[in-house]
Amino acid sequence: CGVFGVIGVADAANFVALGLHALQHRGQEAGGIVSYDPVQGFNSARRFGYVRDNFTKADVMSTLPGELAIGHVRYSTAGSKGATAIRDVQPFFGEFSMGGAAIAHNGNLTNAAALRKELIERGSIFQSSSDSECIIHLMARSIQTNISERIKDALRRVEGAFSVVAMTRTKLIGVRDAHGVRPLVLGRVGDSGWALSSETCGLDIIGAEFVREIEPGEMVVIEGNKVLSTRPFTPAPSRFCIFEQVYFSRPDSILGGRSVYETRRQIGVELAKESPVDADLVCPVPDSGTPAAIGFSQESGIPYAMGIIRNQYMGRTFIEPTESIRNMGVRLKLNVNRALIKGKRVILVDDSVVRGTTSRKIKDMILEAGAAEVHFRIASPPTAWPCFYGVDTPERSKLLAATMTEDEMRDWIGVDSLKFISLDGLYRAAGVEAGRDPKAPKFCDACFSGEYPITPSDKIAEGFEM
Ligand code: 5GP
Ligand code: SF4
Ligand code: MG
Repeated sequence: CGVFGVIGVADAANFVALGLHALQHRGQEAGGIVSYDPVQGFNSARRFGYVRDNFTKADVMSTLPGELAIGHVRYSTAGSKGATAIRDVQPFFGEFSMGGAAIAHNGNLTNAAALRKELIERGSIFQSSSDSECIIHLMARSIQTNISERIKDALRRVEGAFSVVAMTRTKLIGVRDAHGVRPLVLGRVGDSGWALSSETCGLDIIGAEFVREIEPGEMVVIEGNKVLSTRPFTPAPSRFCIFEQVYFSRPDSILGGRSVYETRRQIGVELAKESPVDADLVCPVPDSGTPAAIGFSQESGIPYAMGIIRNQYMGRTFIEPTESIRNMGVRLKLNVNRALIKGKRVILVDDSVVRGTTSRKIKDMILEAGAAEVHFRIASPPTAWPCFYGVDTPERSKLLAATMTEDEMRDWIGVDSLKFISLDGLYRAAGVEAGRDPKAPKFCDACFSGEYPITPSDKIAEGFEM
């Protein structure tokens, strides 16, 4: 998901709509905005579909007045199976004795099922099926007398990954979990305003100046011109999601002081060094494989070409929640550039192999177009473990790499060769020269390594074995 907030500018909701539009790649199912105005109070709009189709029209935007607003773009993750109901669309709102508050959450809470059960037994009335709603109910039960303290209380009880953007009548609040699994950045809007965004690309679109990242375990409370920073949680090692670097974030964003595009290009360079192959063309599987394919071509000297053309009017395939739509998705989105491919030995670069359905279909299309050889190079290590921290991966049994060796995967996909970047190569590409330190890895890489930095306690209670 993507979260965004703005304080201190007229018509803040318009800025939030733009920010969410820039973060649309983080969630395409639905979006919502809450605003506050001293005369009109809190208002909200939650809609299915793209930001541009919902939050550009005067009839919606005129209902969201005020100089303070937050928003959320949603894609459903492991915690919330099946179709999204409008009641699952964030931000969530709560009315407390000291006033209202709204929250928007990116990430996944790993003890939400246990908390929900406990809260319901003690009288909380849940409105949605979302893990994030626990935060509101925990806030309601806190004995603190101001809302930011209640948010702290609530977030000290949850486990898992969270980058939260919240608002009261006067404050914009940003929090990252102790490991800093999901991103969150702070920006300056003109002389009077501030913005919080999942990624820096959300600041760019509104012309905000990037100030800094919210640090792992940090909470900022912004009121007027002041940004107050505190550390509400027990300190923990920073474990930013390495898959944000590979796939999830936009390539024009800056993460950890480093360009995402450059990291991805460097992944391609590492891949070409680790797993070279003689061929005529390097082609990306667009768009997610593009920077790595450029790096692969630069390092290997094999020409880069657009062997697969993407229909710009389709979103990210995997974000569609059902298997059947996902299966159709590849063909709806990608087509082979036949004239280029015919008779050629082609290296295809993609970001990841999850179920393997994408790779297999692309191989079919490429061979049908007359390619002489097909070699897959993948910009991440084999995805062998599900993510419980906010990226939608299927259960282990559906992950190709959980059930097959690399050679078996190559034969199942049906290509001449298949190679994944090593975990060390990925760390080097992400700026960690020495590669992955097995005793203290700099990133979360659980979907590749199986080493979960935060115990997925709900999943373990359901029978998941680490
Ligand atoms: P597959 O077809 O192997 O299940 O999915 C791989 C494709 O989905 C890749 O082209 C990639 O761009 C996209 N994808 C990337 N990350 C994920 C993820 O976490 N889950 C899923 N299901 N697909 C992803
Ligand atoms: Fe990111 Fe993978 Fe960790 Fe999930 S398990 S937070 S996708 S690195
Ligand atoms: Mg892809």
